[in-house]
This record gives sequence, C-alpha cells and structure tokens, in this order.
Amino acid sequence: MINPATGAPVAEYALAQPADVDAAVASARAALGGWATATPAERSAVLAKLAKLADEATADLVAEEVSQTGKPVRLATEFDVPGSVDNIDFFAGAARHLEGKASGEYSADHTSSIRREAVGVVATITPWNYPLQMAVWKVLPALAAGCSVVIKPAEITPLTTLTLARLAAEAGLPAGVFNVVTGSGADVGTALAGHADVDMVTFTGSTPVGRKVMLAAAAHGHRTQLELGGKAPFVVFDDADLDAAIQGAVAGALINTGQDCTAATRAIVARDLYDDFVAGVAEVMSNIVVGDPGDPDTDLGPLITLAHRAKVAGMVERAPGEGGRIVTGGVAPDGPGSFYRPTLIADVSEQSEVWRDEIFGPVLAVRSFTDDDDALRQANDTAYGLAASAWTRDVYRAQRASREIHAGCVWINDHIPIISEMPHGGFGASGFGKDMSQYSLEEYLSIKHVMSDITGVADKTWHRTIFTKR
Ligand code: NAD
Repeated sequence: MINPATGAPVAEYALAQPADVDAAVASARAALGGWATATPAERSAVLAKLAKLADEATADLVAEEVSQTGKPVRLATEFDVPGSVDNIDFFAGAARHLEGKASGEYSADHTSSIRREAVGVVATITPWNYPLQMAVWKVLPALAAGCSVVIKPAEITPLTTLTLARLAAEAGLPAGVFNVVTGSGADVGTALAGHADVDMVTFTGSTPVGRKVMLAAAAHGHRTQLELGGKAPFVVFDDADLDAAIQGAVAGALINTGQDCTAATRAIVARDLYDDFVAGVAEVMSNIVVGDPGDPDTDLGPLITLAHRAKVAGMVERAPGEGGRIVTGGVAPDGPGSFYRPTLIADVSEQSEVWRDEIFGPVLAVRSFTDDDDALRQANDTAYGLAASAWTRDVYRAQRASREIHAGCVWINDHIPIISEMPHGGFGASGFGKDMSQYSLEEYLSIKHVMSDITGVADKTWHRTIFTKR
C-alpha cells in the first residue's frame, strides 16, 4: 500500500485468494444462526459498544484513513470518522425497530402476521474513496438485521476496514459474523460476487464494475444492492444567492479531491449570473491550499494514485478540443504525490466528455441555461441519478426542481451534507437500493407472511372452490 501524498509505502498486507473467500463465506455461514437469532437488544448492545470503541479509536482511524487515501486530516476528523461513528450508533438503535403491518384477521378464517428475518450471508465489496464510511454503510445495517458479512475492501485501502472488524470483535461480536478478505477485484471480488453460498451481494463502486457484480450474483439469483457512480448537476437559478452558490460549488466539487460520487460536477447556471459565477468560483479555487494531508491547514489532498491522476488530467486536457475553456487549474504540481490543482472548465459542450463522464477529480464543468425548462432538461440529461442541487430563493422553483430532477437526493441551497437517518442511493446508472437510514436496514431483511387458520375445522370454506366433498 502506497501513501498517495508521498509515494512512500504505508503498510503491507496479505492478498487473499479464492480459497480464502470460500473459508470466509463458510465462517459467515456457520456464525449466521447464532447472530440471526440473538434478540434485537443483544445485537443492539454489541453495535452500541462498537460505536463507543470506534469513537475512542478516532485518532487511529483518522491516521489510517489519511495515510491510505491522502485525504486531508480535517476531512477525516470532521467527516469520515465522526460520520461513521454516528452511523454505527444509528444502526445500534435501528436494530430494535422492525416494522410491519399489524397482525390481524385480514381473512375471517386466519390470523396473519409479519416476520422480518435476516437475509443471511451478505457479501459486500467497497471502494477506496471513503473506505471506513463505505464499510460502515454496508456492514452495519447487515449486522443490525442479523446477517453475517464477508467484506472485500478496495485493494489499495484495506486498513480502516480491518480496524473496524477488530473493534467489532472487541465489542463482543461473535467470531465469524464479520469477515474481511483483502485482495484484488479480479481475484477476490469476482470470487465473492459470484459465490454460490452467499445470500446477497452489496456493492459500492463504479457503474461498469457494479454491473459485472450484478451479473455474477444473478447467476445464482442472489439479491443485490448497488451504489454506483454519479455526475451530479448543480443548478443555479437567476434568483440564487450568488455568493452561497459560488462557495457551495467549490465545496461540492472539491470534497475529497472530487473523489465523491455525489460531488458537484456539472454547474448549470442562469445566463445572467454565468460570468460572475465563473469568476467567483475561479477566485475561490485559486486560493485553495493543496498539499500535505496531515497539515490541518491543507484544503485539498492528492488523488488516490498516479494512474488516477493521469486519467483526470487526460480528460481535462481533451476538454478544449471539445470547446471547453480551462479557467483555472488543469495542472499537476511538481514533486511527489498524485496532486492536481482545483480545475474549472467553462463553456463546455453538452456532448463533451467532461460533461458526460464521471471524472472523479477536483474538476467542475460549467454551462449556462436559457430558462427553467432548459435548466432541468440539462440536469436530467445524464444516465446517472445519484445526487443534485438547486440554488434558488423561489419556493416554487425549489419545489419543481426537487420534484423533476431524477436523482436519489436533491439538495436545495446546499450540496453534499448527509445524515444517518436519511437514505443515500441512486437511480438509473447510479444503481438501486439505499445505504444509511431505516431504508437501508430493509435491504437486509426478508419479509415473511405467517398465515394461521383460526377455524380448527378440516372442511375449510374455500375448499369448495377446488373440490366438492362427496
Ligand atoms: P471500482 O468499481 O473500480 O472498485 C470498487 C470495488 O470493486 C473495489 O473493491 C474493487 O477491488 C472491486 N472490483 C473491481 N473489479 C471487480 C470485479 N470484476 N468483481 C468484483 N469486484 C471488483 O470503484 P473505485 O474506483 O474503487 O471507486 C470509485 C467509484 O465508486 C466511482 O465510480 C464512485 O462514483 C463510486 N462510488 C459510489 C458511491 C455511491 O454511494 N453511489 C460511493 C462511493 C463511490
């Protein structure tokens, strides 16, 4: 493992093989019964203890997250780790809230009731951008529901997932309920996604890989849940608070060096505000401090790898050929690490690569719109549908944007905040199913209808539909 800020090694770890995946799935299968039949209160107590231990381990988790991803220490300290702790704490509570229709006589001859049961063994595969949060978003609702888990973190960022599993054991989670297999997508990811003896496959990552995972799971008819890529629109209407929109665009585009599936990537700005918006964003971006992620004064850390920086830089370099104007950035600073300056590209064409494809870097592209219909048309002109924002002081415009933009989350006058009680998940090429919130717990539960005869007679009234007693 390499520190993307320095190029220096961070840690060494063993690469699992497909045989290790078999062993981890067998361990999860063996542990399932005991955990699935623990009472909600027993499960909740273990998860609450895990939240406490994770909170106490904040300094270690921050250090691991910063060294393996290069994210700024301020982001890891104020967002990644406390957000993860809060999410664990939320699922400790959610474990005790299982909802369903009231038991009752929906037929005069029967009492019906609903049971909610753990789906079973869950295989999960996570990306490198928020390693701890993505592990928590997948593993915690599964554990709260009574499932056992085998998780494969991204091969370049396994540290905090391993620490989370260690803390879970310390919190009293029974052995075998939470298993980690480290290794590549090609070897371990494919073996896990296509494993016959899991019951569900959950995935967070890119859209092409998510589709491969879904195909592998489909071979066994397994339930899937996919959180995939995004290309979030950021719509600025002509009555917006321009200063708020400028600051929001920079924060929304640069969070985690733009390696965020909900990052603001396509600013769609009213013609009257366009020039001032572009100038304002460029000015704020030019003052961003790029550098050592361990320094609390640093705003922007490196991209995850040199290869990923080359991909981002290539897309930016091709933009002028498609009509884009690089207003600021487009530069990789000299020296070690995979750093890249915040980049603003104006006047891009609707068919250009930077407007249509996920860049996953600190790059904001901007276009103008003519009227509200055109703004919403441009916002929806994408296969993705994960997140979006609308900036306006007009309540009717805000309502219309939230109704008509096709995305799993629409922010009004903000972009990025998330909260444990509310769901996160996309539409279209951004996947399906939810992370976080009670909706996510639902993903990991099967609903069973139990229908009990209350007449006690052999000769049920409905039998005459099938045969007549002679
Ligand atoms: P990725 O798709 O390359 O890899 C994700 C995971 O899949 C990794 O663990 C990888 O090892 C594994 N993998 C790779 N090939 C596989 C295969 N054939 N079978 C099974 N597993 C395989 O994604 P990434 O580069 O790690 O992460 C960035 C992507 O994740 C972006 O597209 C981003 O938008 C997306 N993302 C989405 C969300 C969301 O909530 N929607 C959140 C974070 C990241």
